[in-house]
Amino acid sequence: MTRIQMNPIVEMDGDEMTRILWKKIKETLLEPFVELNTEYYDLGLPHRDETGDQVTIDAAEAIKRLHVGVKCATITPNKQRVEEYNLHQMWKSPNATIRAILDGTVFRAPILTAHIRPYVGNWTQPITIARHAYGDIYKASEIRVTQPGHADLVFTAADGTKTTVPVMDFAGAGILQGMHNTDKSIRSFAHSCFDYALSVRQDLWFSTKDTISKQYDQTFKLIFAEIYENEYRQKFEEAGISYFYTLIDDAVARVIRSNGGFVWALKNYDGDVMSDMVSTAFGSLAMMTSVLVSPDGNYEYEAAHGTVTRHYYRYLKGETTSTNPIATIFAWSGALRRRGEIDGNAALTAFAGTLEDACLETINNGDMTKDLALLVHDIEPRTLDTDGFLAAIRNTLDQKLAAC
Ligand code: NAP
Ligand code: MG
Repeated sequence: MTRIQMNPIVEMDGDEMTRILWKKIKETLLEPFVELNTEYYDLGLPHRDETGDQVTIDAAEAIKRLHVGVKCATITPNKQRVEEYNLHQMWKSPNATIRAILDGTVFRAPILTAHIRPYVGNWTQPITIARHAYGDIYKASEIRVTQPGHADLVFTAADGTKTTVPVMDFAGAGILQGMHNTDKSIRSFAHSCFDYALSVRQDLWFSTKDTISKQYDQTFKLIFAEIYENEYRQKFEEAGISYFYTLIDDAVARVIRSNGGFVWALKNYDGDVMSDMVSTAFGSLAMMTSVLVSPDGNYEYEAAHGTVTRHYYRYLKGETTSTNPIATIFAWSGALRRRGEIDGNAALTAFAGTLEDACLETINNGDMTKDLALLVHDIEPRTLDTDGFLAAIRNTLDQKLAAC
């Protein structure tokens, strides 16, 4: 059989159990069928440390050049990791570095299968969360007030003029916070959301608390509305989708009553909280994909989960593990599909779809990892270890490709 040819994408290797999965997925499910053409960057923690984290920056720059990347989960070092890996310093999260360079928005979508029912029974379609990944409380300044006093919010313009707004007369102890966002970041967030909704042909919802936050949240609402009217209304109407703004508390009620099938854009903190709620309600973190979309159309795919450290330590002791590779496989299929769509490479796009179908069919047939076996209804699951599950997917994939 001749292997499918492709233009290059950026491949970012990672850490621990997902690094083991990464290699197995390539060997079992990709390389036999596709002549994988990747620019390889090793974002494993030892190599990030050796290069002073330059490799992460190089990988992000490569995504700007090639427009498509696929990333394995990586360790974000903390104090304990600095000791474990004897690091030169506590390197920043690779995802934060890449996001800062690409200036993107992260979209998280669940992978649905027939026998895993969401906790919310009427969610028959996936809900994709678009989280604004800049500013607000994640880049705030705070004061712990310990005595009576007065607080102002002061802005000093470049020309020296000052704007002062009183915040609070403290009679005793309390807390204070100053946070910000920029029009530039909100605009690129809006563009990413409108473009992504068009690419998946789903309605876009956006919600904030603009009735209470009459400057801050109101600005988000107005910028989205302006960009929609000027640049997207016509494209949305042609695609048969809509843009819908509502207050966050109204949105939460509507989301719970909905059937899913839309993209929900949220400010940074709201997106952080809601993405964990939505992914849990859909079943499992191991069935959640994540894609970073930059405003100029670069796509970086990955699994939403981490490096599955607990399984890795068992693997190192020689024990078999039942780690679920689905989200990592879907990161690859997402990147291959995107590459195929950009280049008009129909064979590559079709392969990505067949690979995803093979994964879902294998699970529907009852073969799965332990985490899924605990969630399925209506069938008697066969719990496999990681290798056994990958072999079962390969078997289904072989059958599907032979039938093509
Ligand atoms: P995690 O790797 O997502 O794992 C948490 C737990 O969730 C696992 O112990 C496992 O539960 C379950 N799980 C997650 N993925 C699974 C899979 N594919 N198959 C089966 N079970 C799965 O989160 P963590 O343990 O908090 O973080 C580990 C490391 O990952 C940290 O160093 C963190 O910095 C990093 N991280 C990276 C990213 C990223 O690169 N995007 C994201 C998050 C975290 P059981 O042990 O109960 O089976
Ligand atoms: Mg969170």
